Amino acid sequence: MKFNTKTIHGGQKHEQAYGAVMPPIYQTSTYAQTTPGGHKGYEYSRTHNPTRHALENAFASIENGNFGLAFGSGLAAIDAVMKLLKPGDEVISTNDLYGGSYRLFTKIFQDFGIKFHFISMHNATNVESYINKNTKLIWVETPTNPMMNIIDIKTISKISKKHSVLLAVDNTFATPYLQQPLDLGADIVMHSATKYLGGHSDVVMGALVVKDKALADKLYFIQNASGAICGPQDSFLVLRGIKTLHVRMQRHCENGREVALYLKKHPKIEKVYWPGFEDHPNHLIAKSQMKDFGGMLSFTTKGNNYQEAIKIVEKLKIFTLAESLGGVESLSGHPASMTHASIPKEEREKTGVVDSLIRLSVGIEDIEDLLLDLKQALG
Ligand SMILES: *Cc1c(COP(=O)(O)O)cnc(C)c1O
Repeated sequence: MKFNTKTIHGGQKHEQAYGAVMPPIYQTSTYAQTTPGGHKGYEYSRTHNPTRHALENAFASIENGNFGLAFGSGLAAIDAVMKLLKPGDEVISTNDLYGGSYRLFTKIFQDFGIKFHFISMHNATNVESYINKNTKLIWVETPTNPMMNIIDIKTISKISKKHSVLLAVDNTFATPYLQQPLDLGADIVMHSATKYLGGHSDVVMGALVVKDKALADKLYFIQNASGAICGPQDSFLVLRGIKTLHVRMQRHCENGREVALYLKKHPKIEKVYWPGFEDHPNHLIAKSQMKDFGGMLSFTTKGNNYQEAIKIVEKLKIFTLAESLGGVESLSGHPASMTHASIPKEEREKTGVVDSLIRLSVGIEDIEDLLLDLKQALG
C-alpha cells in the first residue's frame, strides 16, 4: 500500500456488527466476561480499547512500523520512552529542543539520575564523541522549533547502531508524509498528534511507533502500568484527521513555499528560516530525507525590534496569534515573549531566538489571503 492509501485504510478493518466504515467510539471503561478471563480481547480500557486500537494500527501503518501506541499528549509519549531508562543512563539530545521536552528531561528525569547532553547536531558525526558506555538513547527532533534546523537521521542512526544505542525521532514537524524516520534507521518515532496528525486544533494527543516487538512490549507495559492513555473520543478524532493528512500536507507545503518566497523578497525582512532555501545550512539533507519542506517557517525583521515584532503578530488577522501548530488554520507566534520567554535573553539568542523572530504555522487557506494578511501586517 502506498502512503496516500495508508492514511485512509492503513491498519483498518470495517466494524463487524453492522459494517460501519469508521470504528465506533467505544465509550466504555470495561467489557463483559462470560466466565473469569472469558472476554473478546478487551478487559479494561487503560489496557485496551477498540477505538484506540484502530488508531494505534493507523499510527503504525503511516510510519512504516509494526506497533503503534497512543497517549494522552505528546509529552506523555516522551515520558513513556524515558521510562525505558534507569538511573546512571545517559541521553544525547539537540540544543534547540522543543521547550516541553527540555523541561521534562531537565526538571523531572534529571532528578531520577538520568544524565542529558544537549549538543549541536548540525554536523551529525558530532554525536559520536558524546557516546560512552552509559549512553542509552539519542533523542532527535528535525526540523527543529523554531529555527528550522535539519538533522541527518541516517547518519545518526548509523552511529546509534554501531554503539547499540536507541535512536528516537520526534517527527511532529515533518509528519510521515514528509519523512519516515524508521525507514532511515530510527528505533522509535514520536509525535505530538495534537499538531498535524490530528490537524484541526481540537485534540491533545501523543503517539509512538516502533518496528521491534521486544521494544514494543516494553513500551506497552509502560503505557498500561503508567496509564497516560487517551480516550476513545479523541482517538476517533485523530483517526479521522489522519485520513486527510496527505492532502492537508500537500497544501501546507505549497502555501509554506509561497509564504517563504514572499517574505524573502520583502524589504522589511532580515532573514527567513525555511529548509527549502538552497542557502539553508542543511538544505541538501532536508532534500534527501524529506519529500517537501513543510508548512513551518520563522523570520526576523530588519533592526531586530521586539516591539515591532509584537505589533506584527497583533496586526495579523488570518494568522491567529496562538501557541501550537499543524492545524488547518494559520497561526503566528513570537517565541521571545511566548514559548521562549522563560529562557534568559543571552541564552535564547545563542540558538537564534532573537527579539524580532516570528514563527508561522502556515495553514491551508487561500494563499492570496495569507499573503495579503502578511502584507498589511508588515506594511
Ligand atoms: C507540541 C510538541 C510536543 C509536545 O506535545 P503535546 O501534545 O503538546 O504534549 C513535542 N514535540 C514537538 C516538536 C511539539 O511541537
